[in-house]
Amino acid sequence: MQKEQISLSQTIISQMMQIGSSVQPFSKESREKTSRIHNAKVVHSVCPYCAVGCSLDVYVKDGRVIDIEGNADSPINRGTLCPKGSATFQYTVNPSRLTQVLYRAPYSDHWEVKSLDWAVEQIAQRVKKTRDETFVQSLPDGREVNHTLGIATLGGATLDIEENYVIKKLFSGGLGVVSIENQARI
Ligand code: SF4
Repeated sequence: MQKEQISLSQTIISQMMQIGSSVQPFSKESREKTSRIHNAKVVHSVCPYCAVGCSLDVYVKDGRVIDIEGNADSPINRGTLCPKGSATFQYTVNPSRLTQVLYRAPYSDHWEVKSLDWAVEQIAQRVKKTRDETFVQSLPDGREVNHTLGIATLGGATLDIEENYVIKKLFSGGLGVVSIENQARI
């Protein structure tokens, strides 16, 4: 091949390669697009569902949670989440989520909206009444038990360790409740 021909071929090849490297077939709009979590603040949290304790990255923008993903820096889950943990965003941001107290009176066929203060007072009064009516100090054979079998508690996996500590302290040590259960997977 002549020297001039080789030089011409090299120029053509070099121009062809530039098509892929510098002349991008993207519109201005495409180039200006960013990911949905661009510029969002990242808050680290823990998956509420089970005792594996996978770490979460919670993305917040304008005071609103916009996405939740696995934390890649966590030695526990390395950015991964099981199907349940992956659904944490829908659990948190969901129009079906109840945000007020609903009360259905005995024999009623409808729910009434109540204040949180009203609900807490009702719970306290009913726990007190039931405990007073069912508290057993000693069994017939004389053994001291100081317990009530009239109240039970069932915790959910979304309770954190501090909340479970308070539940155990209050219900078991404070009120003498025997049946304390939690559905968390351990
Ligand atoms: S529910 Fe899944 S994502 Fe959440 S802590 Fe347990 S294993 Fe991890």
